[in-house]
Amino acid sequence: MTEINITLPDNSVKTMPTGTTSQQVADSIGSGLARAVVVARIDGNLTDLNSPLEQDCSLELFTGDTPEGHDTLLHSTAHLMAQAVKELFPAAKVTIGPTIENGFFYDFDVDVPFSDEVLARIEQKMKELAKSCQEIVRTEMSAGDAVKMFDKMGEPYKVEIIGEINPEDVISAYTQSDFTDLCRGPHVSNTKKIKYFKLLSTSGAYWRGDENNKMLQRIYGTVFASKNALKTHLHNLEEAKKRDHRKLGKELHIFAFDEEVGPGLPLWLPNGTVMIEELEQLAKITERKAGYHQVRTPHLTKGTLYEKSGHLDHYKDSMYPAMDIDGTDYYVKPMNCPHHHKIYAATPKSYRDLPVRLAEYGTCYRYEKSGQLFGLMRVRSLQMNDAHIYCTKEQFKKEFLAVCNMYLKYFEIFGIEKYSMRLSLHDTKGLGKKYVNEPELWLETEQWVREALQEGSIEFTEVPGEAAFYGPKIDVQVWSAIGKEFTLATNQVDFAIPEKFDLTYTDEHGSDKTPLCIHRAPLGTHERFIGFLIEHFGGNFPLWLAPIQVAVLPVSDKILNYASEVETTLREAGIRVKLNDRADKIGAKIRQAELEKINVMLIVGEKEETNKNVSVRRRFEGDTGLYPLNDLIDQLNEEIINRRLSHSKEKEAATE
Ligand SMILES: [Zn+2]
Ligand SMILES: [Zn+2]
Repeated sequence: MTEINITLPDNSVKTMPTGTTSQQVADSIGSGLARAVVVARIDGNLTDLNSPLEQDCSLELFTGDTPEGHDTLLHSTAHLMAQAVKELFPAAKVTIGPTIENGFFYDFDVDVPFSDEVLARIEQKMKELAKSCQEIVRTEMSAGDAVKMFDKMGEPYKVEIIGEINPEDVISAYTQSDFTDLCRGPHVSNTKKIKYFKLLSTSGAYWRGDENNKMLQRIYGTVFASKNALKTHLHNLEEAKKRDHRKLGKELHIFAFDEEVGPGLPLWLPNGTVMIEELEQLAKITERKAGYHQVRTPHLTKGTLYEKSGHLDHYKDSMYPAMDIDGTDYYVKPMNCPHHHKIYAATPKSYRDLPVRLAEYGTCYRYEKSGQLFGLMRVRSLQMNDAHIYCTKEQFKKEFLAVCNMYLKYFEIFGIEKYSMRLSLHDTKGLGKKYVNEPELWLETEQWVREALQEGSIEFTEVPGEAAFYGPKIDVQVWSAIGKEFTLATNQVDFAIPEKFDLTYTDEHGSDKTPLCIHRAPLGTHERFIGFLIEHFGGNFPLWLAPIQVAVLPVSDKILNYASEVETTLREAGIRVKLNDRADKIGAKIRQAELEKINVMLIVGEKEETNKNVSVRRRFEGDTGLYPLNDLIDQLNEEIINRRLSHSKEKEAATE
């Protein structure tokens, strides 16, 4: 018998008989791995565990808790679901079943929509099929043969999909028992590897997303590698529903939309406005310390400026139409950049003035299709934590790193523990078309950005071909406390616009030079960021950000005078306070304050009045004791000034 050498990721080599499968390699390593492994990478290609190894190769084994393994599990479970549907409803026609983030769906053509009861039956059937240990086998055939096969099986949607492929092309299908589905793979090798799954919901969906086509029934589901991971995910889904910023934003009186104002144009209620002002305050202090200057610009601008900036060429679809003022076209601004460039140009600059950092919480208006609008996440008016940094090539790296570090500082303040930075680069094919034709400048700036990130020990991934027209950029994604992903902001390098706007500085030798420009907005827009914060904190904001920080709750009417004295003292100390002077019982007042998610409740009765102190009750902590009012104010102010994150117990309660 011939043997082959299999190189594992730790560079150890296993010698095994030709035709050994990856599953057998896993079996030879250990029973834990043998059970948990779901897919293999052989010489760089993800492959089914039961495909035989025919020659010397490198082999990597993936369990279901790796991204590769999880995707394989999701895929395989979608097939298992389709198999179950076909067993229960033989007349159902299968269509497609892709994976999505942490889940999958599959669309079926059936006569009667799936009810919750039917969903439970399908899930039960899936459990039976999984337990029956069916081997999942890959076959390859020509697209032409596949059309014939699915036609014979009475699956017109599959026939339609494969009909679009060249009949000579080889495609793959996966079969378990008598169920076969078209798929590129890879898949788990046996249904018994699919254990911890859940069907989540159903909805109608048009075939190919076209409303002229037939309405299909879509089932969403998910699967994980362990019982715990599934449980955590299901909990997070429930929690995400409760934390939906549209729901909480309304309940906590943060923002509102009004038909007569218009869709996508949020109204900030007093509570939301407090949050906006706190964020702006934070940004201003941070930026002032970092050497930025605040500027202000108008909302209306002549069309000629947007011709120069290129917005009218490249961005017109997102701009509101021009209005004619005294025979000249004016637009509401979609971006603040051109105005900041004009501010830079308003006074002459020498190398000694650089870097120039101009910051503005600028309001912009962008056209989003009404179908695209979504709560605070997709809106038509937005206020951006914008700034533009103009610097020399020599200063660039330091400036860019400082911007990245500002992001990290903010993440710390908001308790954002998971984030990713993605560096988008140009590709040489796109030069002169998709990208400004400056081959050397591209390579140079990309390398500076890379070095800045490396020097700052900031983790990032690189994606070629995703850069902006005028320079490389960094996209920042953040994850909320319950693991929901948000796109926060973009950091862009711009080496084309300064030249277009004739922005210059005089260098040491008296000659004119063009500066580089960095666009940055670490806190994104108020709309998106507050939407994120609502979901991240579940409405339980840290004290410094909470719209109402303290509720004063008198136990009876007799205490109203003292209660209002307490209220006034707190207000004069700069604390946002609310007195509940209604005739309710104290229990009801506490419940009301809890509903409003107010962090600190001060309960005042006769005893407190006599001793001139307050009984303090904190959300998630309960009663914390009696305090002289001034001591309490010092304590609260310390927490507010240092922008402390909420008490750890509160965090636990929020993520439990
Ligand atoms: Zn598949
Ligand atoms: Zn900009």
